[in-house]
Amino acid sequence: MLLLEISHIKQLIQKVGIQSFYLQLIANLKQDFAAWQAFQKSSRYAAYVDNGVIELMPVCGIDQFSFKYVNGHPNNPALNKMTVIAFGTLSDTVNGYPKMISEMTLLTALRTAGTAALASHYLARQGSKKLAIIGCGAQSEFQVLAHHALFDLSEVHYYDVDPQAMQRFAKNLGQQSFRLLPGTDAKSLIQGMDIIVTATARQGKHHVIEYSWLQAGQHICGIGGDSPDKTELDPEILLHSKVVVEYLPQTLHEGEIQNLGAKAADLIYAELWEIVSGKKVGREHAIDLTVYDSVGFALEDYSILRLVYSLAKQHGIGAQIDLIPDNIKDCKDLYGLLTH
Ligand code: NAD
Repeated sequence: MLLLEISHIKQLIQKVGIQSFYLQLIANLKQDFAAWQAFQKSSRYAAYVDNGVIELMPVCGIDQFSFKYVNGHPNNPALNKMTVIAFGTLSDTVNGYPKMISEMTLLTALRTAGTAALASHYLARQGSKKLAIIGCGAQSEFQVLAHHALFDLSEVHYYDVDPQAMQRFAKNLGQQSFRLLPGTDAKSLIQGMDIIVTATARQGKHHVIEYSWLQAGQHICGIGGDSPDKTELDPEILLHSKVVVEYLPQTLHEGEIQNLGAKAADLIYAELWEIVSGKKVGREHAIDLTVYDSVGFALEDYSILRLVYSLAKQHGIGAQIDLIPDNIKDCKDLYGLLTH
């Protein structure tokens, strides 16, 4: 069984290059979202604890099954712990044997960003050049680089209530081709932007962006509102936008649309797969306001796990571990593993 640790993912991304990695990931995501009906899907299991949430995210395709363990603890950074950490596995459906266990803290950031960029591809104006990001935490650079893989960004405007987070963000992205422009507040930051990413972490229902601040034609990727009583957008925005979600049963409970009450399901334009598969169109008019209300769905984990599995095999990256008895001589002699 293959083990991919953080150092292995680092090696793999260095080998492939982050832009090429994102393009391959987005191709996998497209393929899996287009095959939506072939997957056995469910909302994730979520245990709500005092400071956050602990979740298990399974999904089953025709030949592979995956699940992820992930948390969301917005107060963790005050203790120098990450808000989100994760690991997960990929199994063969033919025999049920897991074939890989992987770190997924990096993979979660990569797949969240890859899916957001894919959604922006369908929902943002073609030729979008200016992106604003509010919340410069762990997810932020990943969001920007995934978008840069699909859009030739010329300007990235950024803002965080924590000045140190803004400094780190600017340092990490300093070598990129786009101009980096720090902001002083969310309202002025988003003026003239094509794509606005909100990636803040705070319990409670907040208005990181107000409807009255928006301009016609803007696209919002809301990734930080992903749990009951944890949202980022003024609900008025949703009432005036084309809203796209990942998996409606889960997003009704966890996404921005939880704030729309009983009529939420009727106000949603589409699930992402419907747009990816061509069943519905994405953006129709240059003046449309569009929202991708992301909470994170298990299919995205599946897409990235199958990608890193094949890349790891191709490049000989990772370690073999003895986690399951896959080399047992007599498959009925489990007891023998203790005695021989
Ligand atoms: P993080 O704690 O590392 O960063 C969050 C940042 O938001 C912090 O730097 C904080 O200072 C900043 N912030 C908080 N309130 C703000 C405000 N009002 N204005 C500006 N900045 C503000 O968290 P992270 O790992 O980057 O995750 C960001 C969010 O994305 C979290 O809410 C997390 O749960 C969510 N998330 C969603 C998905 C998904 O699939 N949709 C996946 C991963 C993470």
